[in-house]
Amino acid sequence: MKNFYNRIYSTLSSYTPLKGDCGRACNKACCQGDKDGDGMYLFPFEEEMYSSLPSWAAISETDFEYDTNKFAPLFSCDGVCDRKLRPLACRIFPLTPYIAKGGELEVIVDPRANGMCPLAALYVEDFEADFVNAVEKVGELLLSNPDTKKFLESFSRMLDDIRFI
Ligand code: SF4
Ligand code: SF4
Repeated sequence: MKNFYNRIYSTLSSYTPLKGDCGRACNKACCQGDKDGDGMYLFPFEEEMYSSLPSWAAISETDFEYDTNKFAPLFSCDGVCDRKLRPLACRIFPLTPYIAKGGELEVIVDPRANGMCPLAALYVEDFEADFVNAVEKVGELLLSNPDTKKFLESFSRMLDDIRFI
């Protein structure tokens, strides 16, 4: 799956949510974790990208079962990383591909950004169009593989629990 993820990462290229560095206004609020704390889910088999784990990162188990007996690992970091090695979840934040209950692929603002990321108050249309289009393309690529498709479906239902409470 390394080729798969290299293709996904290159789809995102160097596109960013807004023109310029959004982290200046929030002091990189989404990068304030530590290796023993919170983190971002890795997508199925994305762990293969970390056969040599950087010193600033850790991978642990979670109870997020995206398919029968298949659990998403959690990627945590020291709050500073080599950007070339950050996982997909960090590359697309605070947007995410999302499968609506009717099965349509959408791009939404990740509801987990609420209360932490200043961009959470924006509409998807307010983000850089190249970035939004790239996240949508990532969603299409994720749907092309049965495991990543199943992950995205389960992940979307988990986001529903946050969005619609
Ligand atoms: S994505 Fe949000 S929380 Fe992260 S650096 Fe940009 S504005 Fe800050
Ligand atoms: S891996 Fe990089 S982008 Fe992701 S949370 Fe850590 S410091 Fe931020």
